[in-house]
Amino acid sequence: MGIITDLHTHICRTPWKEMHLTARENHLKYIGISEHVYQLQETRALMGDFFLEGRVYEIEEYFQILQSLQEDDVHVLRGVELDYLPEIMPRLRQRLTEYPFDYVIGAVHELDGWDIHTYRDKPDISPESLWLKYFDAQLDLLEHGCIQILAHPLRLAVTEKQFTPLVEERLIDLVQRASQKDVAVEINAKDVILAPSLARVMVQASHRNKAMITTGTDAHYPEELNRGIATLQTLLSDGNLERTVIFINQIAVSVSGL
Ligand SMILES: [Zn+2]
Ligand SMILES: [Zn+2]
Repeated sequence: MGIITDLHTHICRTPWKEMHLTARENHLKYIGISEHVYQLQETRALMGDFFLEGRVYEIEEYFQILQSLQEDDVHVLRGVELDYLPEIMPRLRQRLTEYPFDYVIGAVHELDGWDIHTYRDKPDISPESLWLKYFDAQLDLLEHGCIQILAHPLRLAVTEKQFTPLVEERLIDLVQRASQKDVAVEINAKDVILAPSLARVMVQASHRNKAMITTGTDAHYPEELNRGIATLQTLLSDGNLERTVIFINQIAVSVSGL
């Protein structure tokens, strides 16, 4: 049996019908929609002028839409992707607790105002220092205690492919900390493509620490639900990871079927 869960997807750019058809073809049983906090009106209000990647939803409306997407063969979960912005974390956290999300997926996309996806204004520090800074931000995010899933821990590899043995060590520490905090580590198919050897370290550390893991693609379009899935599947099988978790009302439920 293949991977049956994808807890990291976005629908603001694509019709659900197409996403659902692809999810069904891929034999997904659970699909979590995790729009960014800046796509939801009530949390966007705390963030000032922020990038938009699609339409903005009111949270109640967002839940209604997700409810209407429920299909017999693919169960839809109510997620949200929390962008780590240290200065407003307490307020964002408070606002999110007011709504019944199934889970919050926490992600670091910025370091001191630098967008990690772009080479523009990339900090002039060594690759090792940059990775450690990235992991420190994720550790801080874990300490805020408001997330169920740590999103794409290796996403920095979009703009920084080099790393040292110390980076591997700190990645292992990060997985261990997530496990201690009962936060699931997302094994993201895009991370696996971007940084295969670090992804292997992350999988091994997850196995050793009995960390909860989730699988996700960060798909914004139907075809992205397939991106890297075969590689992800092999990586998890090789690492003897046979179960993932989903979250329902913020409670972890173990799911077999890798
Ligand atoms: Zn993200
Ligand atoms: Zn995302």
